[in-house]
Amino acid sequence: MTIFTRIAQGEIPSYKCAENDEFYAFLDINPLVKGHTLCIPRREVDYIFDMDDDEIARFQTFAKHVAQAIKAAFPCIKVGQAVLGLEVPHAHIHLVPMQSERDMNFANPKQSFTADEMQAAADAILAEYRRITES
Ligand code: AMP
Repeated sequence: MTIFTRIAQGEIPSYKCAENDEFYAFLDINPLVKGHTLCIPRREVDYIFDMDDDEIARFQTFAKHVAQAIKAAFPCIKVGQAVLGLEVPHAHIHLVPMQSERDMNFANPKQSFTADEMQAAADAILAEYRRITES
């Protein structure tokens, strides 16, 4: 079982930002900026581009709603999206609220926030996600 499967199942704690039956979103623990979020499928699949067309379309739609929630919670120019997957073998989409293109440089030093700050960031995104998807 991957670490991200254990996170989606609640076995390992995470700062939840959004979820539905198929997908889960949580804060990256080593964020590039505050609000840096990961979207994952609950189903274990290593490589995002191994998903079939319908599943990746649903995954991207979920990520779109999470990106809208991030932008509402953290005013930014745009939310950047990236797929790396070099570290964790479980498909995931990085969503990063950007003030400039420098914010998308994954070679940048990672930022550190207190647990309270991380919880507040996740709660703000989750509230916006619910507002967007339940309206
Ligand atoms: P990559 O596979 O290269 O896209 O990188 C994996 C990302 O997952 C990195 O940005 C890590 O900081 C993040 N990450 C790894 N473990 C955790 C965790 N337990 N909770 C939140 N984020 C994590």
